[in-house]
Amino acid sequence: MSDAITLGSVTKRYGSLTAVDGVDLCIPEGSLCGFLGPNGAGKSTTIRMIMSIIYPDDGTISVLGGSALDRKDGIGYLPEERGLYRKMRVGEFLKYIARLKGIGSVGLTQRVDQWLERMELPGVQRKRCQELSKGMQQKIQFIASVIHDPELIILDEPFSGLDPVNARLLGRTVREIHESGRTIIFSTHVLHQAEQICDRVIMINRGRIVLDGSMPEIRRQFDPRSIRIKATGNLDSLAQRLEEHPQIRSLETQSEEGMIELRMEHEEETPEPRIPSSVLDCFNQQDGICTVELRQPTLDDIFVELVGSTIEDLDGDS
Ligand code: ADP
Repeated sequence: MSDAITLGSVTKRYGSLTAVDGVDLCIPEGSLCGFLGPNGAGKSTTIRMIMSIIYPDDGTISVLGGSALDRKDGIGYLPEERGLYRKMRVGEFLKYIARLKGIGSVGLTQRVDQWLERMELPGVQRKRCQELSKGMQQKIQFIASVIHDPELIILDEPFSGLDPVNARLLGRTVREIHESGRTIIFSTHVLHQAEQICDRVIMINRGRIVLDGSMPEIRRQFDPRSIRIKATGNLDSLAQRLEEHPQIRSLETQSEEGMIELRMEHEEETPEPRIPSSVLDCFNQQDGICTVELRQPTLDDIFVELVGSTIEDLDGDS
């Protein structure tokens, strides 16, 4: 499979700030890729370089085998800074954008109507863009970026400003478009949104890639993880048995909540996350166990492990 996008040692500086620092990336054709990192990490700068809106100081970029400017009609782009023609009616606006992207007029009204239906915006064709709520405008912008059925779709923070219901609708639609064979990359600083939909993850922090892999690869790399045990009664003897167990790396007891959380040593070859039977034996000797839960690492957990702080803390810094 060839790559839809490749970046080789791409660097972008703004004065003394290196916004993107020697980034190497390959986005294979047909992937649905989350480009994740805190605010200020360098996501939009990278995306703007991919789109040839700005240019790198160093490095090379290839998009669909050339530059984004050569392949404009094959690319759908949702920029971070949103803008619609405020006075234009929604239907006219979407038709205008589709025509700009090379779609003929035959069947165009129907195409627009189908997209509005799909994004749960029926009946807005004759409304002016400025009359719509922020979330609705965002959905219109999303439609504008995909209405020409591009082979490569690049979405910069597509979920920002959407309520949870619409964020789920957008996530579902992105997956469906991907399943029809399109390549999609989207940026977000909300990791759990990405976790649910993407099959490949690239994490960036301070302009550098800190993680790049498919979700199964990443899960394998970071599993097995933590076990959370809730129990009634005294947890001391259970905690002691677990602490002495060679496969337990660390353990935290929250006696008031009747909870022990422990992390297992990393095991290289575990096809499925599992609790070793010798660890389960420790639980069997304890009365009053309510739940034993094997937690898979979330992308937030992985980010903390890689970077040493939470994404929210870093977002707060920017
Ligand atoms: P993200 O999209 O991950 O939030 P950006 O790519 O927008 O991050 O920004 C990366 C860094 O580059 C930030 O520190 C930001 O302030 C800086 N930056 C972005 N655009 C410019 C610009 N036009 N001029 C100066 N600094 C910029």
